[in-house]
Amino acid sequence: TASGGCQKIRGAQLHELLESKHNVLFDCDGVIWNGETAVAGAPEVVRALKQRGKRVFFVTNNCTRPRQSYVQKFARLGFADVDEQEIFSSAYCSAAYLRDMATFSGKVFAIGCPGVHAELRDAGISVVEEEEDGPDVNISNCALDPDVRAVLVGYDEKFSFMKLAKACCYLRDSECLFLATDPDPWHPLRGGRITPGSGSLTAALETASSRKATVIGKPSRFMFECIASQFDLDPESSLMVGDRLETDIVFGVNCGLSTVLTLTGVSTFEQAQVYKDSDEPKKKDFVPDYVVESIADFLEALEE
Ligand code: PLP
Ligand code: CA
Repeated sequence: TASGGCQKIRGAQLHELLESKHNVLFDCDGVIWNGETAVAGAPEVVRALKQRGKRVFFVTNNCTRPRQSYVQKFARLGFADVDEQEIFSSAYCSAAYLRDMATFSGKVFAIGCPGVHAELRDAGISVVEEEEDGPDVNISNCALDPDVRAVLVGYDEKFSFMKLAKACCYLRDSECLFLATDPDPWHPLRGGRITPGSGSLTAALETASSRKATVIGKPSRFMFECIASQFDLDPESSLMVGDRLETDIVFGVNCGLSTVLTLTGVSTFEQAQVYKDSDEPKKKDFVPDYVVESIADFLEALEE
């Protein structure tokens, strides 16, 4: 890794870095695309890496879509050769976590988008169906399912007081698991607006339940373990490319990967430097080894 980190690289140096790695893990939003627009050159980069025998994985905290819908999005945005098996979303990994947990049986109360529900069902996990509560139903008289053994919180545009209240009731049982798809505080939207992320909904439930959620998405190591359980993956030969220091770069550091910050998304070079110059040792985990303007820089580096 680079001395001290935060090294801007391109050309021959970037070529050397890519030569030294066999696996490239890409965050999606802010790296591969922004919303519904591919980052210029990204489809060519993915193709070129694969042509050179590299393995490429996509690691996204976005829990709103099931894997198959990501395959369609990749195709729609011009990525011709992305396979379902290469896509690891926080919804898919949350479902895998519960599926592979030997001690877990029972139902899941899921706060989240259709992506979360679909991945849980695909993993063979029973999900408590959300019913429309009648006009006279409130938290003191609503029905609770006695088979619920886990609460999973993810991005939910239909988040409500009742969902929060029910989740809170389930979590009174200390045996009931408390999982969060990802810790993201907010996400940029087009036109300069932002939308609250899963992390903000999780925070509400953490306060209400006086408990802490187990986070599945980045920066937690679990997503790397999920990939490693399916593909033979060595941290030393893997590179993590992301746009958010607090999730992607910390994830890379937590998993022992070399890290690249790309400046097409949320975090800036200046923010990375602030972490680098901080006196707090923990802040070093937020410092990327390398910085590129865009992953489009990979293309000329590969062709060097
Ligand atoms: N979650 C939601 C709901 C989002 O809209 C986004 C980005 O658009 C993300 C998470 C972050 O995704 P990624 O980890 O690919 O940057
Ligand atoms: Ca991102």
